[in-house]
Amino acid sequence: MSKMALIVQKFGGTSVANIERIKHAAKLVAAERKKNNQVIVVVSAMSGVTEQLIGYAREVSDLVDPNQLAEYDSIISSGEQVTSGLLALELQSLGFKSRSFLGWQAGIKTNKAYAKSRIERIDADIFHEALAADYIPVLAGFQGIDPDNRISTMGRGGSDTSAVAVAAALKAERCDIYTDVTGVYTADPRIVPKATQLAKVSYDEIMEMASLGAKVLQIRAVEMAAKHQVKVQVLSSFTESPGSLIVSNEEIMEQRLITAVAHSKNEAKVTLKNVKNTPGVVAEIFKPLGAANINIDMIIQNISPDEKTATVTFTMKDTELAAALNALNNAVDQQVFNCDDISSAKNLAKVSVIGIGMQDHPGTAQKVFQVMAEQDVNIINITTSEIKISVLINESDIETTVKALHSAFDLDN
Ligand code: ADP
Ligand code: ASP
Ligand code: MG
Repeated sequence: MSKMALIVQKFGGTSVANIERIKHAAKLVAAERKKNNQVIVVVSAMSGVTEQLIGYAREVSDLVDPNQLAEYDSIISSGEQVTSGLLALELQSLGFKSRSFLGWQAGIKTNKAYAKSRIERIDADIFHEALAADYIPVLAGFQGIDPDNRISTMGRGGSDTSAVAVAAALKAERCDIYTDVTGVYTADPRIVPKATQLAKVSYDEIMEMASLGAKVLQIRAVEMAAKHQVKVQVLSSFTESPGSLIVSNEEIMEQRLITAVAHSKNEAKVTLKNVKNTPGVVAEIFKPLGAANINIDMIIQNISPDEKTATVTFTMKDTELAAALNALNNAVDQQVFNCDDISSAKNLAKVSVIGIGMQDHPGTAQKVFQVMAEQDVNIINITTSEIKISVLINESDIETTVKALHSAFDLDN
């Protein structure tokens, strides 16, 4: 018999969307076991369930302070509890020994940043013991437990991170991410039907893609995979076509100028006008935001012609907008800084062109702006780095922009 390897299999929401699909996922687990491999399974909630639970929570709370967010996490983690139990039951029906584990039962220790907690430690022994007793552990993804003994969740798409973290902690041979597309594409295939599947993607490229909105893998899962060199494969649970492998940069043979176009919805911006233009004022504006654990993305500052005042604009996810405004208004009330004009806007989106080859091709930014001008799309803000160019636009312009850029950079298949 071939040597026994440990494989982590993660099933996303659509792969466990109903009983029939849960039964199908169990068959994929069984197939891996037939190859004489050990398996740890990680599951998401049935698709749509997390969304529904979030809706309930929002109906009763504005969810701005940590005590509210701790309850929010307790509520929204429950979807995964259901699927882990169902899949374990189905595996039992197929004749395997299997049991479910909630995050706390598996020793998934996180920090206290509710709704976006980070995994700090995993008790690998719990899994080792279950595997040694020939059990197939089925872990409820997305959740852990914090130092105050409260349930925490890891942000949308967090089951990917649970899976990669377990694979890293147990030094698994591979982490298979089963989802509803056949792999990683040059753009979201739901928006760009001509998107091309990438057989191999480097950690650096997928890191940019994930951080810029390609939700096929959660950014933290990619960071963790890169750090611990976990072999990740993204594949479909519905077809048997080959998936995409995440590999080191050296393994990407062909050098491509642009690898992918990514987009993220639900962006919001805050604008502070007439802020006194003195050294240190920007630090004072961002201090309460940092204390409230809000992730700020794009930042622009404009100084007035007389240099006395500044306008500061920054973006964040719209789910963080209420907390951000709350933190800023409190800071103004306590005279941390002065500002009598704080405004905000929602329904924005960010579209990004990503590629390692961009570093040596100076014309890329100009081309992005030209394509957008031809499509008559208004650019609200721009940020660039060595390997990406991002533009902030109205959400209604996403499809036009992504398709036009995808085609202009020769990514259409
Ligand atoms: P799961 O529930 O399995 O975790 P997600 O919905 O979180 O699935 O992620 C898969 C989705 O990611 C796909 O359905 C697709 O619409 C989206 N996606 C966005 N960008 C990409 C990309 N570049 N390649 C593949 N999928 C992408
Ligand atoms: N169920 C959670 C979500 O919808 C976690 C996940 O699916 O990865 O975000
Ligand atoms: Mg996901």
